Amino acid sequence: MGMATRSLTTEAGYINSKRQKVLRRVAWMDAGRDGQYVYHLQCQRPGCLFEYGSDGISIHQRKCPRCDDGKAGLPVPPQTVGLFG
Ligand SMILES: [Zn+2]
Repeated sequence: MGMATRSLTTEAGYINSKRQKVLRRVAWMDAGRDGQYVYHLQCQRPGCLFEYGSDGISIHQRKCPRCDDGKAGLPVPPQTVGLFG
C-alpha cells in the first residue's frame, strides 16, 4: 500500500506485511503442490526469528507459525550460518 510494488514475493530479502522474510529458495518442490518451489522464510517479529518453509504462492500472505498463528511450515534444510550475515 502506497509503495510502488514491483517487488517479487519470491525474491530473497522480500518481507511481507506480516513481517515474514524470504531467505532463499529451497532446492526442492512442495510435494503437495504441483510445480511449486519451497521458499525458506524467517519471521522478523521481535524475539522470534523462526524459520520455516512455504510455497511461493503463499508468501505474500504468510503468517509466522510460531508467534502469529500461521499454519505449520514446510520442512527446510538447516541454514548455513554466515551466508546471509
Ligand atoms: Zn514469529
